[in-house]
Amino acid sequence: MTLKPENFYDVIVGGGSVSGLLAAREISSNGYSVLILEEDHEIGTPEHCGGVVSQKGLEKLGIIPRIKTIDNYIKSAIIKTKNNSFQINSENQHIIVIDRRSFDKELAFQAQSNGAEINTKSSITSVDYSDGIYNVKISSGKVFKSTFFVEARGVGRVIKSGYRDIIPSGQYEIYAPWIQKDTIEVEFDADLYPGFFAWIVPTGEGQGKVGVAGRHINTGLTLEKFLEKKGKPYSIIRKIYAPLWIHGYIKPFYVERNVTIGDAAGQTKPTTAGGIYSGGMGGIYAGRSISKSLENGNDSSFLKEYQSNWINSFGKEFDRQVLFRKILERLDNKSLDKLFSNISSSAIDKISSTGDFDFHAAALKSLLNAKITVNFLYTFMGNEYRKIISDLSKI
Ligand SMILES: Cc1cc2nc3c(=O)[nH]c(=O)nc-3n(C[C@H](O)[C@H](O)[C@H](O)COP(=O)(O)OP(=O)(O)OC[C@H]3O[C@@H](n4cnc5c(N)ncnc54)[C@H](O)[C@@H]3O)c2cc1C
Repeated sequence: MTLKPENFYDVIVGGGSVSGLLAAREISSNGYSVLILEEDHEIGTPEHCGGVVSQKGLEKLGIIPRIKTIDNYIKSAIIKTKNNSFQINSENQHIIVIDRRSFDKELAFQAQSNGAEINTKSSITSVDYSDGIYNVKISSGKVFKSTFFVEARGVGRVIKSGYRDIIPSGQYEIYAPWIQKDTIEVEFDADLYPGFFAWIVPTGEGQGKVGVAGRHINTGLTLEKFLEKKGKPYSIIRKIYAPLWIHGYIKPFYVERNVTIGDAAGQTKPTTAGGIYSGGMGGIYAGRSISKSLENGNDSSFLKEYQSNWINSFGKEFDRQVLFRKILERLDNKSLDKLFSNISSSAIDKISSTGDFDFHAAALKSLLNAKITVNFLYTFMGNEYRKIISDLSKI
């Protein structure tokens, strides 16, 4: 056995949230030393998440959440425009709302049980690579060393890499009697939430998370207006503001032995910015490939498998969602209303019985498939729509 110097690990993971913790769990389960450095003082806090996830997704992540981690079970979703709405029965999709503060701690416990070390209040200030070693410095000045570095520091890294089109979001946890326990609400309004939407995610009867996101909006002000419209009484228990990335995955997922996962790699759904499942799988695939590399004398060619496994699982779906987003971004309130009024009850029934929360491009396609909708989009968007349809047919 070769003796390793002090503060030397096989892998350092930057960021102790869902993707980083899952990568750490995988790598440490194969007997390799892992250090997770998390800038916040507590894993799971502050919670920047609606916590909506499918039970199937969680199973694939290898997690059966404890009872206290599950806030709620969702039975339906109401989707609204200014003057129209429809409701989907989502019981078949087994969607739950989890408490990320508790969920992330469960993941931390799994990682730690396999031998990973977690340090909170350890903000990484620099990552330097020299002579095949990563030198990871934290704000106290301490330096840790590793053979692999896993970049799991979230959307902030996307911004640091120079990508500009980030959407601001705000989410309040509130108590309000108008929140229905079983039903998620999504509201489109191209003026108020350009490029995104407002949402209500119930965590129980009369309590939940209310959020808005949209290009260039003042999220605090927009949320206050949303709450005013819903009406009093309500109490705000917690406020968070966070950026969203909605343009799909960002390749390459690795350079040398520096491996990017989760939000930092753009592994969030381009439609909803949900990333617990897709980013979590990024962590798992990366963790497995890094373990193989370590088994084979640090051969980084095994990292190819991480990228191809993730793209094989999510690539086409994400590419389709990017195209549906292009349609959404072009629609004004009048056309959103028109589109919604053309959605047939048979399309809604089909989605209710066969829809898939994690891979919902097919559901979007069937919603937009009515002849009258297709004709409208051709007239409204012209060649742009023709190009989107042609691109969709190639995926
Ligand atoms: C308002 C909102 C609602 C959402 N709702 C949902 C939802 O309902 N369902 C869903 O699936 N997804 C949702 N998401 C997305 C989901 O939260 C993310 O996709 C997921 O948390 C990504 O995990 P991650 O590990 O990649 O990154 P993050 O969760 O962003 O974690 C990054 C971690 O890195 C740490 N970090 C940052 N900088 C440093 C540093 N310098 N040094 C050390 N550590 C650092 C951060 O503190 C953080 O813990 C939502 C996001 C937002 C903003």
